[in-house]
Amino acid sequence: MSNLFELLLADKAGSDRLALETLGGLRLSFEDLIQASGRMANALVSLGVKSGDRIAVQVEKSPANLVLYLASLRAGAVYLPLNTAYTLAEVGYFVGDAEPSLIVSDPQVREGVLALAADAGAGVETLDAAGQGSLAEIAARQPADFQTVARDADDLAAIVYTSGTTGRSKGAMLTHANLASNASTLVAVWRFTDRDVLIHALPIYHVHGLFVAINVLLMAGGTMIFLPKFDAGEIVSLMPRATALMGVPTFYTRLLRHPGLTTEAARGMRLFVSGSAPLLAETHREWRARTGHAILERYGMTETGMNVSNPYDGERIAGTVGLPLPGVQVRIRDPETGAPVPAGEIGMIEVRGPNVFKGYWRMPEKSAQDFRPGGFFVTGDLGTIGENGYVSIVGRGKDLIITGGLNVYPIEVEEKIDALPGVVESAVVGLPHPDFGEAVTAVAATGGGEHPTEAEVLAALEAELAAFKRPKRVIFVDELPRNTMGKVQKAALRAEFASLYG
Ligand code: AMP
Repeated sequence: MSNLFELLLADKAGSDRLALETLGGLRLSFEDLIQASGRMANALVSLGVKSGDRIAVQVEKSPANLVLYLASLRAGAVYLPLNTAYTLAEVGYFVGDAEPSLIVSDPQVREGVLALAADAGAGVETLDAAGQGSLAEIAARQPADFQTVARDADDLAAIVYTSGTTGRSKGAMLTHANLASNASTLVAVWRFTDRDVLIHALPIYHVHGLFVAINVLLMAGGTMIFLPKFDAGEIVSLMPRATALMGVPTFYTRLLRHPGLTTEAARGMRLFVSGSAPLLAETHREWRARTGHAILERYGMTETGMNVSNPYDGERIAGTVGLPLPGVQVRIRDPETGAPVPAGEIGMIEVRGPNVFKGYWRMPEKSAQDFRPGGFFVTGDLGTIGENGYVSIVGRGKDLIITGGLNVYPIEVEEKIDALPGVVESAVVGLPHPDFGEAVTAVAATGGGEHPTEAEVLAALEAELAAFKRPKRVIFVDELPRNTMGKVQKAALRAEFASLYG
């Protein structure tokens, strides 16, 4: 095993094929990327970065940001991407926890970051959305030749903090082997080749846009069209010269609202991947009717990369995340005891494979708790495996509602409410209740249009659900709160309505 960088790019040395282009007209070949990452790796070393050091990066998405990621690999450092939405106080927590030797930030927040860095003894350099800044200036003066630092399979390539909406955010330690195995598996199962052109509209501080999209396309030798952010019109107009799109479910629902999305526009595309949050079965059906393509839904997480995927050939079943990837084992266990559950029943999803992370940074007890003997990682997601072997996700374990001692899976209630006219989608949460412990509560998004009354929703559910599963209250909102990865923020809903029942 060698450095992930070598596995991604060594065979492309000297290649003038297009690796990356931007809407602004920047075009980088594979050789350009190799040279730029060499200059950047020399810059990192000149700033005192040593192998094993963490580099915390909170910058806008740009080709320079991608080059920095590659340079971090080459220098044997540990890349630590941070969501651009994090406040200075939040960045302070990550810096204190990870103790990076270098922080790369946007020039606009440099002053604040300098104060944090002084406490942590870290250096600070900048990169802006256009790829300019102090780090770019240093890199421009460096030679392109750089001897990539050798790494063992088990050495860290990245620490990615979980989006953890409750408690402390945890740093998932990902090794060179974790990332390499997941990339090569996905290249094979999703059939990526050097003829692919990916519309890259995801952020690159998260595993989906960073490791799934970038590592897969680099390894396959395909081209990425880098968009700074999601833009439905831009994506639709790029489709005729692209082959693939990776997105979160909100990409697909928003694209469906764009009149330019037609069978004709999507004719040259071969693959639409969705993940990071559940894709509604209805979106899957609508997409197919509109474009002729079945979205390929997959399931993964920061700690593991991708675990399960609908097949490339074979049936892509709406509402399921498909079959375990080659080399990945998936099993369903009782969340409390860890005992096997009868076939087809809901339980905790546990996974094992070369993609599964090494543990949480400086949290040995938490890491030990989340692994079963034998090496299965307890994902925190509840799900089932059908007779056909397809995995379905029921939701996060912590979203399970226990009301009057009985378990209610929010998805079962949400599906019934979603089907009512006037409801776009819903989120069902448990709120503190003096009698029941938790009360099943529905938050229904109406899109601002006509909608049924609370009494009508409750009446409609009467014939559908046992009384203990029915919401005690239904709250109407225009839209559900979501983060940039399209995940509904149930913790935010629980906090907002915490005192609904007194
Ligand atoms: P993250 O670590 O931010 O990538 O979030 C991982 C979590 O997103 C998983 O543990 C799941 O709860 C959720 N997730 C990812 N993909 C899917 C999917 N296809 N369907 C449902 N939930 C998903």
